[in-house]
Amino acid sequence: MATKIFDNILRRLEDIQKIEKLSDKEIELLSIPKRISKDELNIDGKKILAWRILFSDALGPGKGGIRFHPNVSEDEVKSLSFWMMIKNSLVDLPYGGAKGGVKFNPKEVDSETLQEISRKFVDGFFNVLGQDIDIPAPDVYTNSQIMAWMLDEYEKKVGHHEPGMITGKPLELQGCSLRDDATAKGAFIVIKEVVKDLIGEQKKELTFAIQGFGNAGQNIARMLNESGFKVVAVSDSKGGVHDEKGLDIKGLSKVKNEKKEVSADFNGRKVSNEELLELKVDVLVLAALENQITKENVDRIQSEYIIEIANGPITYDADKILFNKGVKIIPDILVNAGGVVASYFEWTQNRTGNILDEKYLEGLFESKMISSWKKVFSFFQEKQERIDLRTLSYILAIKKILSAERLRGNL
Ligand code: NAD
Repeated sequence: MATKIFDNILRRLEDIQKIEKLSDKEIELLSIPKRISKDELNIDGKKILAWRILFSDALGPGKGGIRFHPNVSEDEVKSLSFWMMIKNSLVDLPYGGAKGGVKFNPKEVDSETLQEISRKFVDGFFNVLGQDIDIPAPDVYTNSQIMAWMLDEYEKKVGHHEPGMITGKPLELQGCSLRDDATAKGAFIVIKEVVKDLIGEQKKELTFAIQGFGNAGQNIARMLNESGFKVVAVSDSKGGVHDEKGLDIKGLSKVKNEKKEVSADFNGRKVSNEELLELKVDVLVLAALENQITKENVDRIQSEYIIEIANGPITYDADKILFNKGVKIIPDILVNAGGVVASYFEWTQNRTGNILDEKYLEGLFESKMISSWKKVFSFFQEKQERIDLRTLSYILAIKKILSAERLRGNL
């Protein structure tokens, strides 16, 4: 049987217990979700499994997206809710961690069914959702339209307006314009800091390979390209393209959006997904799925730096091997936090009724991403680079959660 994602998390917690000398009670508090809600959505006589998991609410209400995907499982939703707990704490948001998932293939249903599933999700879980309880958002294969249906169903159920119960909404329903490409924007801000602090400005001709050419991957490729970095390879689930001189990202985006396949019209060198990961580039950006670098392919990875935009793209074992080889991995919980930071702005606007100036929010967004990176980086320097950036990020986040639990009298 394949290793569960949550088993990797437990192994990381064991490491942190040793480093920080945490008690068994503290580890238990960090290993068991506060609430697992599960339902079977009845769609045309067929039962579809759905979960909403609140991992922790020590720092505030739960916060985390809802994923529609045929491979959704309780193990995956639980792991994603754990990562949300860590991420929200690390970037100092007043949230606990949560996540939702519905196990079906959204590409195989029409819009009417998609709406029905979205509404039934809320019917099943509205008791555990709310602006002060647990606040969902989009994730893989869910979008602003789905958030709009969910909001509408929730408000029908509870009988009052409550836009702050969900984020990632369309602008007309009190969404926030920053949200669309916030994940890539946040990742780009972190990358620029990493180049300055870790790589060094002297390396002007940095080369990047990007796995995943969807929302996050395309946006980050565009941002890197526009600011003069060299993106030499990109791939999607059907394969990738490679040009050492640098790729025409705009042109590739056009092809991807028209033909759903980034390599469709490419005349140069095509590469498989495996080959893309193994290219000799300075920076590898992972923006596709979980478990992409494992014990099987880790020895063939040649990049010196890895940026994780996807959640959990490197397994526990591969992570250790890469660290011992000197590869610097900038972890998902920091790199992809831009999405939830923009969601936080949306939620505060919804709650107060104030509409904040976009320029002001952009400044706030940038300073939050930079200060989060600086916090992790200075801890890394303090530890003389002997502990990896992911473990240090976990430690910073966990200390705060445990302190909140102690103050509440739960420890
Ligand atoms: P998306 O569905 O828009 O894009 C995913 C891309 O990955 C697609 O181009 C797909 O073809 C490609 N892909 C799938 N399998 C692949 C493989 N084996 N090799 C190469 N490419 C492959 O999703 P997204 O919103 O861009 O999210 C990407 C990752 O970032 C996910 O792990 C998601 O959880 C994470 N993330 C996204 C956000 C966000 O706001 N978009 C926020 C936080 C984290």
